Amino acid sequence: MQAVVFRGGHLELATVPLPEIESDAVLLEVLNVGFCGSDHSLIKSGGLAEDTILGHEICGRVVACGKDVRDVAIGSRAIVRPTACGQCRDCRAGRPYFCQSGRRSIGIGDMPGAFAEYVKVYPDMLIPVPHDVDSRNAALAEAFAAALHGINCIDAIEGPALVMGGGPIGLATVCLLHLMGVSPIVLSEPVASKRKLARELGADFALDPFGEEMGRRVFELTAGTGFAAVFECSGVPDNIQKALDWVARGGDICVVSMIFAPAPIVPMTLNFKEARLTGCYSNTHAENRQCLDWMAEGRLDGRPLITDVIDLAQLPTVLRERIDTGQAIKVIVETGAARG
Ligand SMILES: [Zn+2]
Ligand SMILES: [Zn+2]
Repeated sequence: MQAVVFRGGHLELATVPLPEIESDAVLLEVLNVGFCGSDHSLIKSGGLAEDTILGHEICGRVVACGKDVRDVAIGSRAIVRPTACGQCRDCRAGRPYFCQSGRRSIGIGDMPGAFAEYVKVYPDMLIPVPHDVDSRNAALAEAFAAALHGINCIDAIEGPALVMGGGPIGLATVCLLHLMGVSPIVLSEPVASKRKLARELGADFALDPFGEEMGRRVFELTAGTGFAAVFECSGVPDNIQKALDWVARGGDICVVSMIFAPAPIVPMTLNFKEARLTGCYSNTHAENRQCLDWMAEGRLDGRPLITDVIDLAQLPTVLRERIDTGQAIKVIVETGAARG
């Protein structure tokens, strides 16, 4: 089969063997798979093994099941999330994404991912896609679940809310806050086209952090209180202190983006505001199911985030020309199988 593999520091199209499925595994035909910010980070990290197949934001169709697999229907569609043991301290605390025992995942360096025609998975990984949700939208459910998890890390979500950064996760956060009735929603993002999209998706205001007097605008838009909730989705280290400057007394900040560099802050800001600064990691099966349900109800649609629908062979070029350059918002690979 065809797959896109990591080789010599970049991606390339290759022919690889079709995955063999044991008695407890399932073979999915890939329909759509999104390119995630974490795929980009892994490629740039220098830590990926040669011939790794990335891709975890998948909507696929079941084409074969091992002989011991029950309750998985051939022909059904599913998205894929990592397994968890259900028994350990993290699982019992409702944080299955931290599970270290027997955890299996695709496309993040463990099992081969979905930038391929077929992918091997296990039944525990599968979350069924409702009939009314198309495969492109379904493939984006995990990106929305990541944003939903950031929102769920804050106890009582209320406005005014600030989303810093208008990439896919920032825009997904805007969509979800809007769906939840949070108001007003403010996005800060330097790229004009992303600000425009955010307004269409439910942001009440979209500001250019370099073009506006942000301190004054924050004061105006929040009637002098600052934001009750701030979501850092830009990955810019300096934004952590800005989030502290702009959060309200008693407010919450969730760092949704992954920032590997040191980010200087003045901790005294935490004292004077009793603000809570937290971060979020991954998401749960339940959050993915919730996003798929909202999609089925017509309340959530990820498709406006898609800027590039490409086939597998185009991915290495699109990575160089559209993703590395920051021009694409959401790139989604669509296979021949999805086109029927
Ligand atoms: Zn992802
Ligand atoms: Zn566990």
